[in-house]
Amino acid sequence: MGKKCIICGQEAKFSIKDSSEFYCQDCAEEQFGDLDMLVKVEEEAQKLKAAIEENLRLDKQ
Ligand SMILES: [Zn+2]
Repeated sequence: MGKKCIICGQEAKFSIKDSSEFYCQDCAEEQFGDLDMLVKVEEEAQKLKAAIEENLRLDKQ
């Protein structure tokens, strides 16, 4: 279930912090010049996954 770039509709690789706007790498660079204020979608997904796993682990104790 991939997020789509809000500009070109390609698969999004970045999102804006604290926002639901998603961008592919090309559009993100074009819009912002740098990627400092952007969060990698993959990292967010990893964090979410880690949080879910942590919850599952705690449930079992
Ligand atoms: Zn794009």
